[in-house]
Amino acid sequence: MTMQTHPTGATRTTGQRGKTMLVRHADVLVTMDGERREVRDGGLYIEDHRIVAVGRTAELPDTADEILDMSGHLVIPGLVNTHHHMYQSLTRAIPAAQNAELFGWLTNLYRVWANLTPEMIEISTLTAMAELLLSGCTTSSDHLYIYPNGSRLDDSIVAARRIGMRFHASRGSMSVGQKDGGLPPDSVVESEADILKDTQRLIEAYHDEGRYAMLRVVVAPCSPFSVSRDLMRESAALARHYGVSLHTHLAENVNDIAYSREKFGMTPAEYAEDLGWIGRDVWHAHCVQLDDAGIGLFARTGTGVAHCPCSNMRLASGIAPVKKMRLAGVPVGLGVDGSASNDGAQMIAEVRQALLLQRVGFGPDAMTAREALEIATLGGAKVLNRDDIGALAPGMAADFVSFDLRQPLFAGALHDPVAALVFCAPSQVSTSVIGGKIVVKDGVLTTVDLGPVIERHNRLAKSLYESAA
Ligand SMILES: [Zn+2]
Repeated sequence: MTMQTHPTGATRTTGQRGKTMLVRHADVLVTMDGERREVRDGGLYIEDHRIVAVGRTAELPDTADEILDMSGHLVIPGLVNTHHHMYQSLTRAIPAAQNAELFGWLTNLYRVWANLTPEMIEISTLTAMAELLLSGCTTSSDHLYIYPNGSRLDDSIVAARRIGMRFHASRGSMSVGQKDGGLPPDSVVESEADILKDTQRLIEAYHDEGRYAMLRVVVAPCSPFSVSRDLMRESAALARHYGVSLHTHLAENVNDIAYSREKFGMTPAEYAEDLGWIGRDVWHAHCVQLDDAGIGLFARTGTGVAHCPCSNMRLASGIAPVKKMRLAGVPVGLGVDGSASNDGAQMIAEVRQALLLQRVGFGPDAMTAREALEIATLGGAKVLNRDDIGALAPGMAADFVSFDLRQPLFAGALHDPVAALVFCAPSQVSTSVIGGKIVVKDGVLTTVDLGPVIERHNRLAKSLYESAA
């Protein structure tokens, strides 16, 4: 028996049953279930961290420990962000990196990032997660591949736990510095033995392989142009020993392809195959220049892609062939990418951008609003190798968000609120629930007092920028 406090203040006694939550009267509830149902006057019944029932309000129980009335709102599964570098929130719109393509952009930023500290990692991760949460994201991966001045992946994990986000923490790395023909300065690369040892430590300390896991660890050397062939192979062996996922950057732009051909004598997809970096437990960021043979390989092996439209546009990398990939059967998720190459970590904005960019490249029927939402929910879940998020159905994690349809930005589009969410200008969420816990209520974060965090973040950003001046 446990005693629980009812929202009205009354204390009630429950049996073995966990805390219950009733979500009701959503104008439309998008399930992303097997039938892609969109339920009018819809709702959810939740016990602890998982969904027990989904349907019309009239079909659900009429009471619970906590009741959320969603009148005037659209409810969707929480969005899944499959690629990010959260520390880059500290280095947005840096003048030296405003107008460069990938390799030039990186070279200009490495010397700034060399001065990052553990405090900066933690606070920038917290800030980036706040931005993601407010824009509809409930699960995010983060790819941290630079560890100067005692920084550790643990600094990001502290932030995720504090804010309450479902998190796939990727232990990135760089081992080939300029003296060995790589792109990063020698001061920010690590020895491969240290990388593998620390990755193993993190998996053993934090990785939760269970259903509804709030935290998973991912093995993630930064890119083929910043680590050795050996480290890619050793990383794959380590990840498979522990059953964790693998993540890196691949085939981002034409220079990336040229580097791969010159250095390895292969296309990026051939190189990935040669290294054992294909399979359902692997996802690659960008793949803008993935060729037809690569698309076929990824489809056959279930290898995932994190599509990052804003970043690809910002760095003029090109238009990823997402329509072609999906037709072939490649799992595709959406990623905002780091804030130094997108400058806006707004998940719902990224959904809209994915739709618009596919149309620029491949015509008006290249992506519908519902397909864009599917990529950002079910697609992301698949890419992260999860079957417990991305849809609202019995047995799934209780991760959902709501948008207030009464805002001016949706006016005139309410005959189709689902399309409105993607076609109209990006909105902030009014509610976000992750694992049955309210993380955003009435548009405000409940877990973190954001004002002081942003102030501290901006002080740190200023000192980081000035340290490299
Ligand atoms: Zn990236």
